[in-house]
Amino acid sequence: MSRLDSFIRRLTAQRDILNSICDLVKETEGPVLEFGLGNGRTYDHLREHFPTRRIIAFDREVHSYSASTPPANDMVTGDIRESGQAFIGTGAALAHADIGTGHDEIDAITLTWLPQLVAGVLTRGGIAVSGLPLDWPELEPLPLPDGIKEGRYFLYRRK
Ligand code: SAM
Repeated sequence: MSRLDSFIRRLTAQRDILNSICDLVKETEGPVLEFGLGNGRTYDHLREHFPTRRIIAFDREVHSYSASTPPANDMVTGDIRESGQAFIGTGAALAHADIGTGHDEIDAITLTWLPQLVAGVLTRGGIAVSGLPLDWPELEPLPLPDGIKEGRYFLYRRK
């Protein structure tokens, strides 16, 4: 499969999973956390689906499309490994983490802290959607929507 095909499939999985969890998230109180604002595409998608929900975005620095940039009080800059710690116990209804790089050695380091952080920010029953697997005892894998191949994008519920 070409890298273009692989990229398209990953983004399709990302969108389909985010669409599939909307009702679950709407049943749960708490903010939405977007780890890895990037260009702001998924932030914009989340904003469309959760127009009344506070969405807090994280990135090293802001380099999003201007119309997809959160208000300053909902934007947290710096390394998520450190900046995320202040949000442990925040009771988020949804945490979306799109911070994989495709480089195994970099992603392996991210995986030493990301699963614990995501579990820590979510409320009980909160949903985690991630580009990297989040192997953590409090995060229960959920079935993926039809047509999404295992391992392309990941979905969990906080126990
Ligand atoms: N979902 C975004 C979108 O739709 O536009 C794309 C996210 S992009 C793939 C990943 C982003 O995560 C990059 O902007 C990168 O700077 C950020 N990132 C990755 N690791 C990070 C870390 N440890 N701390 C802060 N930001 C990080």
